[in-house]
Amino acid sequence: MAAADSDPAISISTCPHCQREIPSSNIALHSAHYARNLQKCEHCGNIVPRKLVDQHYDENHAPASLFPNSKLLLDAVNS
Ligand SMILES: [Zn+2]
Ligand SMILES: [Zn+2]
Repeated sequence: MAAADSDPAISISTCPHCQREIPSSNIALHSAHYARNLQKCEHCGNIVPRKLVDQHYDENHAPASLFPNSKLLLDAVNS
């Protein structure tokens, strides 16, 4: 994580959720939004709406055995 511009007058924090630079005075409020509504996927690091985490997992990270056709689909894409 790169250090933010070190302007001594304005303290900037890099949001761990969206990687944007947020004034430290706003970081708590900003982060609270994510804490309530969004979740970082522990598998790919993408930010996923909390209510879609299960769907995201199914679509992106579920074991292939749950989707017996997925290999066929991949083969079609790669050919
Ligand atoms: Zn953020
Ligand atoms: Zn993911």
